[in-house]
Amino acid sequence: MSKNDTTDVAIVGGGLNGAGLALALAREGLTVRVFDAAPVETRRDDAFDGRATAIAAGSRAMLRALGVWERVADDAQPISDILVSDGRVSDGASPLFLHFDHREVGDEPFGTLVENRHLRRALYDRVSEEDAITHVAPVRVERVAYTPGWATLHLEDGGTHGARLVVACDGRRSRIAQAAGVRYTGWDYGQAGIVCTVEHDRPHRGVAHEYFLPSGPFAILPLTGNRSSLVWTERTAIAETAMALDDARFEAEVARRFGAFLGAVRVTGPRWSYPVSLSLAHDYAKPRLALVGDAAHGVHPIAGQGLNLGFKDAAALAETLGDAVRRGEDIGDLNVLSRYERWRRFDNTAMALGMDTLNRLFSNDLAPLRLARDIGIAAVGRIGPLRRVFMRQAAGMTPGLPRVMQGSAR
Ligand SMILES: Cc1cc2nc3c(=O)[nH]c(=O)nc-3n(C[C@H](O)[C@H](O)[C@H](O)COP(=O)(O)OP(=O)(O)OC[C@H]3O[C@@H](n4cnc5c(N)ncnc54)[C@H](O)[C@@H]3O)c2cc1C
Repeated sequence: MSKNDTTDVAIVGGGLNGAGLALALAREGLTVRVFDAAPVETRRDDAFDGRATAIAAGSRAMLRALGVWERVADDAQPISDILVSDGRVSDGASPLFLHFDHREVGDEPFGTLVENRHLRRALYDRVSEEDAITHVAPVRVERVAYTPGWATLHLEDGGTHGARLVVACDGRRSRIAQAAGVRYTGWDYGQAGIVCTVEHDRPHRGVAHEYFLPSGPFAILPLTGNRSSLVWTERTAIAETAMALDDARFEAEVARRFGAFLGAVRVTGPRWSYPVSLSLAHDYAKPRLALVGDAAHGVHPIAGQGLNLGFKDAAALAETLGDAVRRGEDIGDLNVLSRYERWRRFDNTAMALGMDTLNRLFSNDLAPLRLARDIGIAAVGRIGPLRRVFMRQAAGMTPGLPRVMQGSAR
């Protein structure tokens, strides 16, 4: 194997987490090769990913340290308030139940909405500038052979690549992780998240809305200008019907759920549909293998936390490996990788199960459950400290943040 064919770390999957991790590892002085099965041009295209991400303060600090944030800052919309209501479409205007105001917990907004297309391009631009990173695509990693001290990736084009550590960033129920013996727990929610962008006549003033409708949450997330990103979670069969509607009827369905508070709404551009499932890896580490992002935990998008958790994984793994190198340890050693697993698994599992409970509680119309959740919502609304706990979670202000996430987010 020539020197060119080896790096400290090989990342399988160049999605948002794979690219973010590559930059975080390069910052720790490690050499990295990222492999992705899809061409870079396809993944850079506007049509590839219609979602927008609510970037929490810690993720923002990390992106700033990695030289990514300045490239998306002009396209970023801070969220100042979150309004949550237990609404039903048939109710017309939903009663307001909860109001989260960011000033109750500090100066920072809850999060900052950035369209994934901007984030993805900024990450790939930064990756291409780093001498320590090579981004190889399109090529699928077929399998990995693990030997003491080394891992060899076998590529679909017949090539090979050697690394001291392989990181699976290949998405939910990672094939690379499963081939190494990692098992998953999880289930399908029988829901899909329809995503599109809308323009509206009135300004949103930085307010995010979440309506809990019986078939799933309906989120209106403020983007720059008079635009919002919609995440409309529906039962799969209804989502398929909605996706098949012509533009005028789809827009009418969206407008009906939106209500009138932002004036007339127009759907701009295409619509996307993402299946919604839960998948939790039993292990985040095996000898010479670590799992990061959706490969480790695929969560319900109800609170917009999936990518933020993945960025925390990336920052924690990079810090763990950087410290290991400074101590003269082998970065593929299970003792080193177990430190990363201990750091991240509890937080991710707790968040995944929290999202699961929220979805179960709200995505139905059973009278006793409606009563229970309305009492719960009213309690959160009235009890200041409880409300502030929720707000800190939403803003990512949790203990145990990796160092790179503790810097200034501004
Ligand atoms: C509707 C919706 C809304 C969301 N909103 C938010 C939000 O507001 N905030 C938030 O934090 N999160 C949000 N999320 C979650 C977030 O989008 C995901 O957690 C994140 O995109 C996962 O990124 P990833 O890089 O881990 O995986 P993926 O995006 O799945 O990337 C995996 C990559 O691996 C590549 N790959 C797979 N197998 C191989 C192989 N064998 N060889 C080479 N390459 C391979 C694929 O081509 C792909 O590019 C949302 C999710 C959904 C569905």
